[in-house]
Amino acid sequence: MAMNIKKGQVLQLKIEKMAFGGPGIGFVDGFVVFVPASAPGDKLRVKVFKKKKDYAEARILEILEPSDARISPPCPYYPHCGGCQWQHIAYTYQLQYKEGLVREAIANIGGLGDAAVKQIIPSELITGYRNKMEFSFSSRRWALPQEMPLSEDEKTFVLGLHVPGTFNKVLDISQCLLQPKTANQILRAVRDEAKQSGLPAYDIKSHQGFWRYLTIRHSVAFDEWMVNIVSSGENPSIKTMAARLTESVANIKSIVNNISQKRAGVAIGDYEKLVYGQPWIREKIGPYVFQVSANSFFQTNTRGAKKLYDVVADYARLTGKEMVLDLYSGTGTIALYLAAKAARVLGVELNAAAVSDALKNRDLNKVDNASFIQGDIRDQLPLLKEVPDVLIIDPPRSGMHKDAAKQISELGADTLVYVSCNPVTMARDLAMLNEYYELVEIQPVDMFPNTHHVEAVGLLKPKGSSMMVNVS
Ligand code: SAH
Repeated sequence: MAMNIKKGQVLQLKIEKMAFGGPGIGFVDGFVVFVPASAPGDKLRVKVFKKKKDYAEARILEILEPSDARISPPCPYYPHCGGCQWQHIAYTYQLQYKEGLVREAIANIGGLGDAAVKQIIPSELITGYRNKMEFSFSSRRWALPQEMPLSEDEKTFVLGLHVPGTFNKVLDISQCLLQPKTANQILRAVRDEAKQSGLPAYDIKSHQGFWRYLTIRHSVAFDEWMVNIVSSGENPSIKTMAARLTESVANIKSIVNNISQKRAGVAIGDYEKLVYGQPWIREKIGPYVFQVSANSFFQTNTRGAKKLYDVVADYARLTGKEMVLDLYSGTGTIALYLAAKAARVLGVELNAAAVSDALKNRDLNKVDNASFIQGDIRDQLPLLKEVPDVLIIDPPRSGMHKDAAKQISELGADTLVYVSCNPVTMARDLAMLNEYYELVEIQPVDMFPNTHHVEAVGLLKPKGSSMMVNVS
């Protein structure tokens, strides 16, 4: 029967567990059905909207019996906005499911059993934890059922978040629970000012219009704000907006205008103009200060980043004698966080702007035993002149290249610490490294409550090494 499932068909099923990427999974005669916005334990009536050879995707028509994990989602835009797909799940259950996804990846994808996976470290804040949010302007508003009908004026000017899986449907958002309250105040003020300017919002189809993106950044340590307006050109209305913003919101330290003529939907300008204050704000992780500009990468959950880096530091077990190699070092945050406890740290990073930020951050923190080189890991590893004692590996979501895994194995470091934002690629990479390195322990860390995302840190030791014992 399962193989005969068709698009449009109505089914009844029970959700058994969560899947990578966020939906719940139910089975019909062993056939996999993914259901967004569901939770394990739900008994549902669903309608199939996609059918593939190995699986189907279905939408909830009716909750026949709710899961114990269900709560009423706190945000009015849920589930239309794709920002947080797990808002209908109580936080303790979210934690349990995330830990489960890491276990499942390590056991089933990595083939490494799940004994090494520790209990997940929760996030300090469940809402308001993001230090950066990006919103899109659009001339095409996607209205919620309760917002209809819209006036012509309301239809053609929106500032908010994209409906998942679409590039041109934008919900008008007046508050987002992932960011602190002041950010919501900034968001509303920017929309009001932009509307009053009389200039049109950008249209992604015709590529006409002025207002493109708004990025708001916050420094938790210094309680400072940065506002980045991305527009298609320069206009005096940005100055007017900036003046009003600094009048109505306290602690704005930086307002910049990125000008972008690019058609692609990215909020990075062709060039940047400073409108108010300085072109950066400062943030702290532990005792270290980092300068963050509009276009530089920085961990989006500041408090969570500290917890993550503390796990890395714990696994690295530095005594002051070690040479640490930080692969995929980004803006140098992990390298600098570890430098005081090591003899020397060396970061390797592909992105030149990130490397220059790392060098700036090094000088800002007066760290004198850190260096950074720009280049692809695959090209740089063979050039290395010394054997690192500890390797930190923090690859992008897609994981490591298989050549890099081989090169890493050949380096012969005593300790590998693998940091991951994607359990699937982590499991695959740890399996590649498994010929020489044994997995000792994995610590999942939740940095993104209300979303399905989960971070994890793995500790690996050379096979047969005596250091396999006695790790807390
Ligand atoms: N460790 C950093 C950031 C890690 S994000 C932190 O904690 O903040 C992953 C980084 O890997 C990105 O900065 C990306 O530019 C870099 N990267 C991706 N592919 C790479 C490659 N082949 N060689 C070197 N760096 C790469």
